[in-house]
This record gives sequence, C-alpha cells and structure tokens, in this order.
Amino acid sequence: MNCKATHLLFDCQITKQKCLDEWSKVKDVMPNAMSQDVSNMSNQEKMLFIANGMNSEMTVEWSPLYHQMTVFVKNVWKEIDRMLLTNE
Ligand SMILES: [Zn+2]
Repeated sequence: MNCKATHLLFDCQITKQKCLDEWSKVKDVMPNAMSQDVSNMSNQEKMLFIANGMNSEMTVEWSPLYHQMTVFVKNVWKEIDRMLLTNE
C-alpha cells in the first residue's frame, strides 16, 4: 500500500499533469543508468529513493539533481496549494 507522500507526489489524479512535468525534469538531470533504474521503480520506491537522497552519500556531481528534486517537491506542493485555493 502506498503512503500519503507517494500519493501526493506520484499518484494523485488532481496534480497528475504537474507531477509528470516536474518529474520529467528530475529524470532529465539524472545519470542515464540511474534514470533507467528509476523507470523500473514503483511510485513508492521512487518516493523513498528521492527522500533518501538517491540512497547514496552526498555526491557533488549530482547538484543539478538535488536542485531539480527540490523543485519537484516544491512545485507539486504549490500545485496542491493552488488547487485547494481554486476549489474554495
Ligand atoms: Zn489524490
């Protein structure tokens, strides 16, 4: 069963398009091998992978990835916020 963080970031129908757009930007800055591994992950595994910092020590070469991952989470939350305000 998926947790709420997984639902909001990867499964929610309401924010789906935003999630897909932002996630593709994350994948664009991943090393190819990582991007392929991630393609085979479930949404729960993806959420844990990014929440756990790609399961690795801090890697300087991945700074664009850390940045884009932060933008992903931030923008999906902003979209949720926007949707909630719109539906008021
Ligand atoms: Zn939902």
